[in-house]
Amino acid sequence: MLFGVDTKKDNDWWIGSNTPNTNNLSKFESLLFQGNGYLGIRGTFEEHYLNEKRDMFILGTFDKFQDEPTELPNLPDIVNLEIKINGKIFNLDQGEVTNYQRGLNLKNGEVTRSFDWKFDKEQFKFEFRRFVSMANLHLFVSKVTVTPLNNNVRIQIKSGIDGQMTNSGTQHLVEGSKRLFRARFVQMQTQTQDSKVKFALTEYHRLFLDKVELSLNPHLELNRRQAFANYSIGVEKNQTLTFVKYANVYSSTDKDLRYGVGRDSIHELEHLGRTSYASLLAESSRVWEEQFWQKSLVEIKSHNNKPQIAVNYARYQLISNTPHDFGMNIGAKGMTGEGYKGHAFWDTEMFMMPFFTFNLPQYAHNLMEYRYLGLIGAVKKAHQNGYQGAQYPWEAAMPIDAESSPLWGGADIITGEPMKILSGESELHVTSDVAFGVSQYLRATDDQKFAKRMGDEIILQCAKFWASRVEWSTRLNRYQITDVIGPDEYKEHANNNAFTNYMAHWCMEKGANIIADLRQNDMATYTSLDKKLPLATLFRDLIEKASMMYLPQPDAEKIIPQDDNYLSYKTINVQKYKESDNTSEIFKDFNLKQLDKIQVTKQADVLLLLKLFEDKFSTSVIKKNWFFYEPRTTHDSSLSYSTHAILANDLSLYEQAFSYFEHACQIDLGTNMQSSVKGIHLGSMGGIYNTVIEGFGGVRIVEDNLSIQPQLPKTWETLKYSLIWQGVKIKVLATQDYFSIVSDSKFKFIYHDKDYQVEPKEKLTIEL
Ligand code: BGC
Ligand code: BGC
Repeated sequence: MLFGVDTKKDNDWWIGSNTPNTNNLSKFESLLFQGNGYLGIRGTFEEHYLNEKRDMFILGTFDKFQDEPTELPNLPDIVNLEIKINGKIFNLDQGEVTNYQRGLNLKNGEVTRSFDWKFDKEQFKFEFRRFVSMANLHLFVSKVTVTPLNNNVRIQIKSGIDGQMTNSGTQHLVEGSKRLFRARFVQMQTQTQDSKVKFALTEYHRLFLDKVELSLNPHLELNRRQAFANYSIGVEKNQTLTFVKYANVYSSTDKDLRYGVGRDSIHELEHLGRTSYASLLAESSRVWEEQFWQKSLVEIKSHNNKPQIAVNYARYQLISNTPHDFGMNIGAKGMTGEGYKGHAFWDTEMFMMPFFTFNLPQYAHNLMEYRYLGLIGAVKKAHQNGYQGAQYPWEAAMPIDAESSPLWGGADIITGEPMKILSGESELHVTSDVAFGVSQYLRATDDQKFAKRMGDEIILQCAKFWASRVEWSTRLNRYQITDVIGPDEYKEHANNNAFTNYMAHWCMEKGANIIADLRQNDMATYTSLDKKLPLATLFRDLIEKASMMYLPQPDAEKIIPQDDNYLSYKTINVQKYKESDNTSEIFKDFNLKQLDKIQVTKQADVLLLLKLFEDKFSTSVIKKNWFFYEPRTTHDSSLSYSTHAILANDLSLYEQAFSYFEHACQIDLGTNMQSSVKGIHLGSMGGIYNTVIEGFGGVRIVEDNLSIQPQLPKTWETLKYSLIWQGVKIKVLATQDYFSIVSDSKFKFIYHDKDYQVEPKEKLTIEL
């Protein structure tokens, strides 16, 4: 596994860099992201560099600038520190840097950087540390120590709140107010232009010479959209200057507001500013440990710790980007960058959910609750398009929004104009994906309360959408779905995309089953839902349409056609695009109109269908399709790899499985310095976890049961993992020869189509 970051042999929880490098800033800014499910900050350096991209977001604070799509506004920067020594600005590009190390501790999200700096014959020791707190969601703390080794020097530090940030040029925030309170607290208040979300940001600093605290008030500097505190300190040779920055951010969307953003922000900081960096970090680390790591065990024993680091990294990113509360979702790039504008896609349900459902069901619940609130926007979207029920947006921002996808994208090589993006209009499968996510959550948790209050309604509204969307063909005597985009976004006008049809069929059937079940077992919920969507008519409609729905079947060669025309198109050699480091490389040779008529697929499409419904297809069909579609797939979406890896493992294609697992891990951690520039691929982070647990760990939800059938990569000695299944906590140890399970209460599962039961606290071992 080739990483573009440095790792340590004896530390599974560290990624970083041992060489000072200011060339690939964006890659490391995304990789060293820090967040707590509320606040997210890119891993920029404290001091400024050309081409840096500072971003800080608060989940759920979307704003819309004129006709541009709504997005998370980039908030004023609080990370900045300008350090001048004897009048010269410190910068890694000047002088000589030795003993450099910068890294992210995946256990608690602390980023540290230390080095020696020689400039103008003067030597200094530097150390930077910082974290976004998991214990106090508003809080960011950083600390820098500087020690001059040759002479006495004067050090000037400028630290503050810089509101000259934009979202790649778009300014979402008004100028607002800024000032100093009680001679020590620098504060800026601002507001989004359109959505009128208010923010308050406050900073407070403490300085120490060796261990002695200095009582020093800053000189305040106010510029346009900027408020800085300036300090000037004489530091003697071998004395250490410590500068601690306490900063926080409040938003009017916060549910924990007491007096208002400005007052709460200062009040909290007055209190927290008395506590040391170390104690605040310890509190935050405790939350990481108790709330997250103790609930999610994944341990790989292998000759090499890269797979372990990758799965730790994936979980670190998923956790730090997951909404701490309901009403928000995880963007395709989380809060790690401006890519996809903070919007959530099917990535959440189809790729990230298993991690939350199996480890942190409360977080999965929050994400599902977001979709429940999103019924408002989804019903609106269906209505706007002349359909019924709920049509979920391809790109989702605020739950009340109908659709947030942009309309225009990259260059069309033939016309020289921007390409029109049809996903918001035509990528319909997201509606079934949401319903599928709800159903998987319900199976795994048996959360009946959620089913009654929200889950059943979501699925029924989605089913109702499909019943109104499917088209009757008199000629072919079937319902079908034409003119859609499936997971393969290269085909913009696909008729009967297999994935879309099967998922719509599943959704309608599921809806009908829910109605039948409620009528029999839960009249109260039936009656209340009946008022919103008359259930008797819906039931008849669903039964009729599901039973006459066209589901593309394997042909004589056992190939399931991706859509009606795919198999009739010409083929091309896609190796060049597969091997390219850049995504969208194929758009340099073809435009979308041309790709529409070529047997080339962006990402797992039919194969994802086979993964989700694998019990409905024979192994030989799955295998034939794997070998048919894989060579036609460019893997232009990072989501593609995990599906290929998991299916390959099932098909005993062990080398391919591990190779695709490596590809998934390398998307962000690999050597391609361009791949993460606009943010980390959160769906792929889910995919890494899924490949380990569903793939190598062999965990699958089959109907209402859990099936466990591990098959480790050849180089792994053991894989240990924990899961929560319907409230029962289980731990699995898998080796090359056997696997064993312990659980805290009675637990039933399937292995190779046979039922097994684990008694509480008794280990059950099965030879492979
Ligand atoms: C993605 C689409 C998305 C569009 C606009 C494309 O790169 O493939 O899924 O809707 O960008 O954000
Ligand atoms: C993929 C979509 C995905 C989106 C966001 C696109 O490139 O094709 O499937 O939802 O990225 O990750």
